[in-house]
Order: sequence, then structure tokens, then C-alpha cells
Amino acid sequence: MFAKPALIQLGEEGQTIDCDLCNSPITLRDISVYEVEEFRAMVANGLEPPEVALKHALLMGIPQQAAIDQWRSMVHQENSAWSLCPACDEVARGYHQVLDPNRDTHRMI
Ligand SMILES: [Zn+2]
Repeated sequence: MFAKPALIQLGEEGQTIDCDLCNSPITLRDISVYEVEEFRAMVANGLEPPEVALKHALLMGIPQQAAIDQWRSMVHQENSAWSLCPACDEVARGYHQVLDPNRDTHRMI
């Protein structure tokens, strides 16, 4: 009856959204989504905004440390899941593993 499903499919394939960390466009296939709590834990483990975001802040007159502080408080207020591009996901994943201390312990034994 309607051509809607096909249109949606077409839209999804070519659609991109912006990475929540570096603002680069991600196709839906490459996206990594982190729940708010999960993302906060990674930030607590030391995850910081990417260089690109800090440079952008600097251009707007915000010093690096202030930008990081602002970003951290934004992370604590944010209530929706975080969408990351493959590059940011790779960085973030490093902080994610710290959450699971058993992994490293096992490796040492
Ligand atoms: Zn990114």
C-alpha cells in the first residue's frame, strides 16, 4: 500500500548522525552506543573529550582544562545514550575495560 518501509530502509542506509565526542558523521552501521551510566563510568576512569573537541573549544576562547571540566559536568547532566564513531569508540573502550578488573587479573596469573 505505502512505499514507506522501502523509504525508511533507504534513509537508514545513507543516514549519518554526528559522533557525540568528535562531531564527525557516523553511518548507522558504524555507530557504537553507550548507556549513560556506562559512559559516566568511563569518564570517571579518565576518558576525556578528544583533541578535536578541545581544539574547537580553544578556538572559541575556552582553555583546555576549562573545556574538560565543562564537558565532565555536561556528561553528568546528560540523560541520553552516547553515540560514538569507530575512532572514539576505540579510545573509549580502553577506559571501559578498567571497569572489569577480573580481566587484567586473569591475564597476570
Ligand atoms: Zn568520534
